[in-house]
Amino acid sequence: MTRETDPDMPYAEVIGDPIAHSKSPLIHKFWLERLAIEADYRTCHVTPAELSDYIERRSGDSAWRGCNVTIPHKIAMLDLVADPGGVREKIGAMNTVVRQADGSLMGTNTDAAGFLAPIADSDWSGKQAVVIGAGGAARAVLFALKQAGIGEITFVARSGLKATGLLVQASVKGSVLPMDARLPKADLLINASPLGMTGKPPLEIYLDPLPDDALVYDLVYAPLETGLLRAAKKRDLAVVDGLDMLIGQAALAFELFFGATPPMEHDAELRKLLVA
Ligand code: NAP
Repeated sequence: MTRETDPDMPYAEVIGDPIAHSKSPLIHKFWLERLAIEADYRTCHVTPAELSDYIERRSGDSAWRGCNVTIPHKIAMLDLVADPGGVREKIGAMNTVVRQADGSLMGTNTDAAGFLAPIADSDWSGKQAVVIGAGGAARAVLFALKQAGIGEITFVARSGLKATGLLVQASVKGSVLPMDARLPKADLLINASPLGMTGKPPLEIYLDPLPDDALVYDLVYAPLETGLLRAAKKRDLAVVDGLDMLIGQAALAFELFFGATPPMEHDAELRKLLVA
């Protein structure tokens, strides 16, 4: 059975502009199949001009469980749905909208928890982190690190003003460096910029100042092994790639859409599918 043959079949989707590249359908459909849940997950191309109409239409569709939200709608969505968790103040971006049984819509952000999940076993309280980039993903990273009790954050960003604004808004101790600055000593280095992604310029950064027990985390997942992660592995530093966060944030959204916990015991198979 599909939504074409059964229009009442529950479904969720990911919206953005562009959207064809999204890996979310692959992840959600993989879990739906493994759990034998009769539901669908698909992409939906929505331009900024279409966003409020889209929300209006979907709120009246009882088969629609909600959507994941990607570039460029994460900020605009804050004005269109309820925000019971205070995501606007805490993170400033929404990546998930859920339709409640009564038809009302509420938004949340699963990026922060998805980011933290792969590194949550370590104690980050009082530690030093460096975050490259000051966009939407960096906001979620900043919130997650604050929750984890991080001591200090250095932003490396091309817009110093934006990065300073993030630190002030989050009331986190830290500083801002330009893109060509030498890295400070840090326990955790995070790339939250698109640098190093396929089709984007490489991330030019020298890891020498990092101690041997530092962890390097790249949010970019295409390619999976970025130049940054290659350089970190060469130095025998611990690394986390972008797929862990992608799967982590999707798992939280899946629970909200379909009311079931994803079968994480199949993660290795899912990762293989995602890089194929
Ligand atoms: P975004 O909101 O567009 O922010 C990108 C940030 O990177 C901005 O601060 C931008 O600077 C900076 N930047 C872009 N190009 C740059 C360049 N050439 N030199 C220096 N800085 C540059 O994007 P985002 O949503 O934060 O996403 C950032 C990356 O994280 C993307 O690669 C995305 O795929 C990845 N991501 C991964 C996951 C995951 O689950 N693994 C989740 C979210 C995002 P300005 O502020 O000056 O524009």
